[in-house]
Formats: sequence, C-alpha cells, structure tokens
Amino acid sequence: MEYVFRPEAVPVVPVLGTASMFPVHRIYCIGRNYAEHAREMGHDPDREPPFFFQKAASDILTSGALHYPAETSELHFEIEMVVALGDGGTGVSVSDALGKVFGYGVGLDMTRRDLQGAAKKLGRPWDIGKSFSGAAPCSALLPVAQVGHPERGAVRLSVNGETRQSGDLSQMIWSVGEQISELSRFFELRPGDLIFTGTPAGVGPVVRGDRMVGEVEGVGRIEVEVV
Ligand code: MN
Repeated sequence: MEYVFRPEAVPVVPVLGTASMFPVHRIYCIGRNYAEHAREMGHDPDREPPFFFQKAASDILTSGALHYPAETSELHFEIEMVVALGDGGTGVSVSDALGKVFGYGVGLDMTRRDLQGAAKKLGRPWDIGKSFSGAAPCSALLPVAQVGHPERGAVRLSVNGETRQSGDLSQMIWSVGEQISELSRFFELRPGDLIFTGTPAGVGPVVRGDRMVGEVEGVGRIEVEVV
C-alpha cells in the first residue's frame, strides 16, 4: 500500500521518566464538571447530565510554546487533569472503567472563548472555539502504577506568577470512572484516547508573552508560554 503523500506523524505525549511515547487517538473533553465553573459560565450545575466535546488529536501541544491562534481576541486557559486510556471498549461499567486507564497528566483546554460564545448563541458546534493548532497542551503522563487513581488534590493555574484558578479534584461533579463509562455509551473508546476532565472556576484570557503554570497535585505540572 502506498499513500498519495506522506501522512502526518501520530500525535504523541511523553511518558514521564521513560523514552516511551503515548500515541494519541482522540481527545474528549467534558464540559462544566466543576460547579463553580459552571456557575461562572452562567449555568446551573445541578440539573445537567454530563456532556462532551472533542478536540483533534493533532491539537496536542507538548513543546511549551503556544502560538496565539487566529481570529480570536479572547484566548482562555482551563487547567484540567487528563486521563489517558490504555484500553478501550463500549458499554464500560463505572466499576470497570478505571481498569482502562493507562495514566494521568495535566492539560490545558485552551479555548477561543469569543468564537465559542458566538457559536453557542447561534446554536452552532463549539469546535471553532475549542479545536485549533495547540489547543490541547499536555504534560508528560504518569502511569497508574506510579500515580494510582487520583481522587483529590489541588488543581491550580497561575499566569505570570499570579494564581488564577484554584480547585480540587474532589470537586468534580462526574468522576473519572463515570466519565469513561458515559463516553463509552456513545463512542467506541480506544487505547490512546485522552479525556480532559473539566476545569475549576477562574478561567480567563492570556495574551502573547504570558506564562501559564498549571499543576495537579500528585500528578504533575505544565508550563506553557503564549508566543
Ligand atoms: Mn474544559
């Protein structure tokens, strides 16, 4: 078999402390999974079943330098724990779900908030706001053997040394296991899938020259400069 041109390289995320790379298949993101963030976006967190959107696998960024994307003047950060699946399936029960996890990392669900807002108003898809080159910065992954399955721990983000987001994994409305189980009702999950697990309150804009440092206690940290 011959391709008509050379295919793009498979997007990868490094595995901490090894030379191995985690090949990314899809990127799923849950919306409004921390009550305070749902409220700051103008929604009632108590009456909603979970919902998800996707970014393209090629949106993964591991270089630490995010090029300010086109056609926005409101690029927002959202610090999130990232779940990396080492196994897939459909109809996964909550009790089986954590057995599918390869490891965990720290990611940023970067968002062109102005474009997302316009799309919401018009009842259009969110992907123009959520999926673009560099929209999914992700730290190296920590395998389950080292990190276990974190259920609590601070989730923080600072910009230029000033704290902007601060929450705790224990505040998630839908647990990691519930997210995997719910996604597997609608999609065939595959090894290589990443799940961005939602962001605490305090999201806001960055501009060129800003330096974001995000941390999930016990899982890792990520540093990204907007260039
Ligand atoms: Mn998000």
